[in-house]
Amino acid sequence: MTGAGYDLAVIGGGAAGALVAMHCLARDPGMRIAIIEPRATLARGVAYSTTRDEHLLNVTADRMGWHAAMQGDFVAWLQAVDGEAAADVGHDFMPRRRFGDYLAARLAEAAASGAVVHVHARAVACEDGGRTVVLASGERLHAAACVLATGNASRPLPLSVPAEIAARVCEAWDLAAIAAIPADARVAIVGTGLSMVDIVLALRGQGHRGPVIALSRHALLPLPHEPTHMALDVDIDALAALPLRARMRRLRALATAATAAGLPWQGVMQALRPHGVRLWQSLSPADQARFLRHVVRGWDVHRHRIAPQVVEALEAMRADGQLRVEAARLAAITTDGDGVALHAVAQGGKPARHWQVDRVVNATGIQSRFPVADDALQASLLAAGLARPGPFGLGVDVDGDGALRDRDGSAAAALFAIGSLRIGAEWESIAVPDLRLQAARIAARLRPAARSS
Ligand SMILES: Cc1cc2nc3c(=O)[nH]c(=O)nc-3n(C[C@H](O)[C@H](O)[C@H](O)COP(=O)(O)OP(=O)(O)OC[C@H]3O[C@@H](n4cnc5c(N)ncnc54)[C@H](O)[C@@H]3O)c2cc1C
Repeated sequence: MTGAGYDLAVIGGGAAGALVAMHCLARDPGMRIAIIEPRATLARGVAYSTTRDEHLLNVTADRMGWHAAMQGDFVAWLQAVDGEAAADVGHDFMPRRRFGDYLAARLAEAAASGAVVHVHARAVACEDGGRTVVLASGERLHAAACVLATGNASRPLPLSVPAEIAARVCEAWDLAAIAAIPADARVAIVGTGLSMVDIVLALRGQGHRGPVIALSRHALLPLPHEPTHMALDVDIDALAALPLRARMRRLRALATAATAAGLPWQGVMQALRPHGVRLWQSLSPADQARFLRHVVRGWDVHRHRIAPQVVEALEAMRADGQLRVEAARLAAITTDGDGVALHAVAQGGKPARHWQVDRVVNATGIQSRFPVADDALQASLLAAGLARPGPFGLGVDVDGDGALRDRDGSAAAALFAIGSLRIGAEWESIAVPDLRLQAARIAARLRPAARSS
């Protein structure tokens, strides 16, 4: 199988890999596509592999269709599968597992002709400008073009963990490890973003009784969506012409004016949403650097919002004292009798602090520096000169369609990236509405070239 020539090799079979395949097949149903993915199933990846119903999408169902021109397709699928029960789910935040089911079903339909092969393997290198993919077994797979859809790697804990307590420390995305946390354990979650929210909901869902503390430097929690999802009127051209400081001032003023008029501040962020790439690329490099240094944390909690019912669940746990959120700059993790001690340095006039817990969960988020340590594929792309780091070392450098720029800056003819690998170049490059646009552009660009024989 791996010796055969394909029209396209997609490395990574999460949501992004599935979307690339679906957009390519929509243009050319006869395309032969290999999706190289070590997981047992396609189209789920990290975000949609969860089996927990309390893990909700953070985008409403009516905007999660696989194609920008068919945004309601997820809702249509839900209605076809669930009938009456899904009569009015467009504005709901559905369980993420259902979106995984949907994408997998639509991919299977698109691939019904047998044009898509799932190669259960990890890719460790690309050669020949991306036309040869080397698998961990040493086998080589040949294709006319290749798309890197390798997605999200979790950021390592910024502290070393003594070997004797390593078993008490787990990753946020390790669902089995979270499920195995004893109900009375004292749990510390490092990070207060979306992954922390997932863990808290999972613990709550499995009847956790022990105290949970969530720690991050600024203790900022994701803010809620508002139910109407209305986008307010924002002059994007005028905004994009402003430098960062003036831009942030304008946004704050718009949000304040909205609130004063009885409108949701979220409507300002909603208006910016389709213009994220332009807003990022219209900042000067110096302002982009300032954004990453000073603005990003506050930006993320306003931009990556969560369902109102999730906020309510977190608030209820805080109100009854089970969940505490603390600002802390962690300096060390040490052994503490049978458990673990976390040590935070003094900051902002507060003294150094220490917490004794039984379990620690790393929820520090997504690792976007390129290359990610221990990632053989990324190391090989860099060493072969097929890729160079993107702006600020985030992801890879790409042209407007996602073609990788090589070490000299030339755009590849046959090697593309989708998703979080494009974060430095495009910033808004992770959620489904961004991924489906990227997939469509890659498919359009590939069409004339990607036929292996
Ligand atoms: C917890 C969580 C919740 C989210 N919720 C939402 C949401 O509600 N709505 C939304 O729009 N977005 C959401 N997102 C954003 C999410 O990143 C995207 O929607 C999408 O799942 C990204 O898919 P992906 O395929 O790029 O990445 P991933 O899901 O990370 O998939 C990448 C795949 O590549 C494979 N892979 C990696 N390296 C190799 C290799 N060398 N060889 C072969 N295979 C490889 C991995 O096994 C993995 O399956 C969420 C993200 C997370 C982490």
